[in-house]
Amino acid sequence: MLIDRDRLQERVRELGAAISRDYAGREPLLVGVLRGTAVFLADLLRAIDIHVVVDFIAVSSYGPSTHTSGVVRFLKDLDESIEGRDVILVEDIVDTGLTLRYILRNLRGRKPASLAICALLDKQARRLVDVEIQYKGFDIPDAFVVGYGLDYQQRYRNLPFICVLKPEVYGG
Ligand code: IMP
Repeated sequence: MLIDRDRLQERVRELGAAISRDYAGREPLLVGVLRGTAVFLADLLRAIDIHVVVDFIAVSSYGPSTHTSGVVRFLKDLDESIEGRDVILVEDIVDTGLTLRYILRNLRGRKPASLAICALLDKQARRLVDVEIQYKGFDIPDAFVVGYGLDYQQRYRNLPFICVLKPEVYGG
């Protein structure tokens, strides 16, 4: 067990409050990165008390193992135009940062008014590229984690907490 249900809920409420405060008078567009962000985004949304719009993209970064391939593919694009809008990209976890860098470059090209990042987890020990995270949930150690939306081979997303996957599960 790394982060239990209560700590998750409390931190997500704080992130929602910070976003509500910082974007007061505006209507941010939250862009969730599927599928790992689904659970976090659902809770974060309900912790925001200003008008907010939601859209999703889907990317694949990993293939079936626990190591990044460095190759990111867009599987689903946004439905909304983001030109001139205040966009908050919502990520489950930033690991090497390669996925985030790829997505950010793509979104910046569409000329949003602003672009911020909200990430639930930050695994800084494995960072390969610099990314600035404006709204961060937790720093976590270099371990493969699952639960609260995060998967290993599509499993464990339904756990209501975040825990470390034992290496013997993935043959490590
Ligand atoms: P990055 O490109 O290395 O930063 O990888 C980011 C993506 O890899 C995340 O959005 C997750 O989908 C996945 N990922 C990285 N670390 C973990 C982990 O510990 N558990 C589950 N998925 C992870």
